[in-house]
Amino acid sequence: MFRIIKTYLLDAFAIFYPSICFACGELLFKGENIICTNCIVGLPRTNFHRFQNNKMEKQFWGKVMVEHAFAFFYFQKRGKVQRLLHSLKYRKNPEVGVKLGSLYAAELQSENKLSNIDFIIAIPLHKKKMKIRGYNQSLCFAEGIAQQLNKPVLKNHLRRVKNNSTQTKKSRFERFKNVATVFKVIKQDEFKNKHILLVDDVMTTGSTLAACVQLFNKIEGCKVTIATIAYAE
Ligand SMILES: [Zn+2]
Repeated sequence: MFRIIKTYLLDAFAIFYPSICFACGELLFKGENIICTNCIVGLPRTNFHRFQNNKMEKQFWGKVMVEHAFAFFYFQKRGKVQRLLHSLKYRKNPEVGVKLGSLYAAELQSENKLSNIDFIIAIPLHKKKMKIRGYNQSLCFAEGIAQQLNKPVLKNHLRRVKNNSTQTKKSRFERFKNVATVFKVIKQDEFKNKHILLVDDVMTTGSTLAACVQLFNKIEGCKVTIATIAYAE
């Protein structure tokens, strides 16, 4: 009896609250989920993975060593990518991150860009934000990539040791210096001669990513490639 009522309620719910695309807000067709086909095709890709020395990679020059750096989309204010990120970060829709991760990994894989990755690591969220949000949006993206790639996500090896939430008031250099002290890599030996895919949601100045890469650069034979959902110019 309870099951019948539950099914009935779920069907009724689907009529009044049908699934919509998180990027454009239009109704999803059968077989589509999270993002509609139109949006998947039309979202503004960077295609950075096709270019060695692309502008994202150049932002790390003189700071840290990265093998490659690429972002799935360009971030545009009030655009669909911002809408997706907003759903992922502030509206409790971790599935958006997983979906984007698996879509991006499939594209990168088809061009053989992730074949020598050993581990996937997400930039950790600070405890306070984790408590409010309930999940780390970058880790959702990492999980999506991992599903597609069949490679492990290491969740506890890169840790945040100090809050840096007030850094918006600081200068660019101060910010770089500040974030450099907030991360720590544990079990460093596991990364010797390994290639890590380090992932984050959006890359803007790249200072957070650089601070983490710096730590892996100190480990013998450790290589780092960076992948983000979006790149803000
Ligand atoms: Zn759409």
